[in-house]
Amino acid sequence: LPKSIGFVGLGAMGKHMAVNLAKSLPSDSTLYVHDIMVAVVEEVAGSFTDLVVKCVSAKEVAEKSVCVPSLNHPFEDGYLLFQTVTANNISKQDVILTMLPEGAHVKSVYLDPATGIIAALSSSSAKLLIDSSTIDTATNLHVKEELSKVSPETTFYDAPVSGGTLGAVNATIAFFLGSAPSDTNIGRLTALLKTMGTKVIPCGGPSLGLAAKLSNNYLSGIITIACSEAMDMGMRAGIDAEVLASVFAAGTAQNTICDVFNPVPGVCPKAPPSNGYRGGFRVQLMRKDIGLAVDMARRVGARNVLGASGLGVYAAASDASDCKDLDSRVVYRYLGGKEN
Ligand code: NAD
Repeated sequence: LPKSIGFVGLGAMGKHMAVNLAKSLPSDSTLYVHDIMVAVVEEVAGSFTDLVVKCVSAKEVAEKSVCVPSLNHPFEDGYLLFQTVTANNISKQDVILTMLPEGAHVKSVYLDPATGIIAALSSSSAKLLIDSSTIDTATNLHVKEELSKVSPETTFYDAPVSGGTLGAVNATIAFFLGSAPSDTNIGRLTALLKTMGTKVIPCGGPSLGLAAKLSNNYLSGIITIACSEAMDMGMRAGIDAEVLASVFAAGTAQNTICDVFNPVPGVCPKAPPSNGYRGGFRVQLMRKDIGLAVDMARRVGARNVLGASGLGVYAAASDASDCKDLDSRVVYRYLGGKEN
């Protein structure tokens, strides 16, 4: 029974997600992949020569990742991914995932009339499209609407992730799904996403996975700055960095950034700050996410007093030659934190 899935965007996160997905597919499956960076496509294809097929565009991925379901197939989880129940019978629904940097890339991959997924859709298509990129909610809703005009049977979900590149490698990321818990696709979506992560949280409806993700990154980005300042302050007063971190862990300030990703080099030996801030979540991506969160706060009328200063710090760190392209916890260095 041929099975096929498409994956577009094989960067720091997408590459590992695609590999974990490929590992969990039956051996007679095909994973159609595309990225504008040829090297990353070759890397993923090289690891799964029998399973992965390289495509030159998102349109080609959408044309090729077509499944052939059978009513006689045992309804194991994996197979259910490819099916949707329509009014009269069970019909196929082809699955494509995307993991792209920003809203402009998502628009282009889905809506470009020459090379985008939309160019492969028609009124008779039925695709299950999942975008895991962290972008603004308005772009997500716009893409959803444009796709549904061409293909009413196609469903488009936002499913941004949290957990970083390490989580992508280890398949421990969390997905924040833009759907209601009662959505009829929830079982299929959960089975699919759990091949790449551990948690799938339905956030209520279209684009609300993104609203949740932006709220989460706003909080973790601001905590990182607060943790940097608090660590620097205590260390300058004479407290040892590890002792200070253990005080926060035991006190009311306890949080994951201080415990697991402490911005002070040496405190968490396995975290990016102890590795020259290499790897992890790029400071430019945090600038993007805080910017999107601040825009969202303005749009929904939420007060957001720390947003402007947080955004200023991440924007300046993103441009600083000794911080650019490094893990976002490099704000400790940008803020002139004391050496450990
Ligand atoms: P990345 O820049 O490493 O990868 C994005 C990939 O998309 C690149 O390989 C790029 O070549 C490709 N791409 C761009 N435009 C394309 C197009 N038109 N067609 C095909 N491919 C295209 O980014 P990433 O770190 O993998 O992050 C992806 C998304 O996930 C971002 O929105 C980011 O905010 C979010 N995210 C990242 C992390 C992290 O730790 N890196 C964690 C959670 C969420």
